[in-house]
Amino acid sequence: MTPVILADLDDTIFTTLKSYPDRDPKTLQRVTTAKNGNHSYMCSHRQALLAWLSSGATLLPVTARSLDAFNRVHLDSFREGAIVSNGAMILAPDGSEDLAWSEAIAKKCEKAAATLARAIEELEKAPINIRIHQHMHKGIMLGMTVKSNDETQLGVDLNLRTAEKLFKESFQFSDVQVHRNGNNLAFVPGGVSKKSAVQYLLSIREDLQNRPTVGAGDSLADLPFMELCSMMLVPNNTQNSKKLFS
Ligand SMILES: [Mg+2]
Repeated sequence: MTPVILADLDDTIFTTLKSYPDRDPKTLQRVTTAKNGNHSYMCSHRQALLAWLSSGATLLPVTARSLDAFNRVHLDSFREGAIVSNGAMILAPDGSEDLAWSEAIAKKCEKAAATLARAIEELEKAPINIRIHQHMHKGIMLGMTVKSNDETQLGVDLNLRTAEKLFKESFQFSDVQVHRNGNNLAFVPGGVSKKSAVQYLLSIREDLQNRPTVGAGDSLADLPFMELCSMMLVPNNTQNSKKLFS
């Protein structure tokens, strides 16, 4: 009986060059293509950890990445299916979409659509230097990600804190949840979560049942799905490790 490892990707399995300030990128393995050139990399230690995690277990990504961004991850370790867009979409091992799950999620996304559209208008008017990535799928917005164009610590703090505050002040009692971690402000329709997608996946995939589970993630937003698992893996120097040790 081998474990099932449910793992977040960004800042858990791989990271951008911010984690390797003194390293020549040529000494790292580039593992994603980012549209703005801020790609993700793995050092030899992370490569060894991923090889170990995927060799004796079933490894399933549970990521905030949209399907498009997930398809720009160049690793062949993920062949068992995936949860993408913060739980809004589930992929089978052959890459096909779970249509029953998507249909249920579409109803939740439709409820949040007006709020997300108004949030985009407000954010685009605000004096902040951000870019907005809408997770569109078959004409439905599954959520969106806001990033600071100024990627210095100061710039990220200022732009994303302002964007989050603006949203929370404008949309109290909202049908959209917001999570901030590093240069990533995620807007997720109410009722959509990594946790609910993991629960559903474990209930329908017989090959994953009655096996020990490990949840891995760097972000506070990962904790609810990690809590479903028998054991947790937390990368050091992350939101979750700081929560544990500060
Ligand atoms: Mg992460």
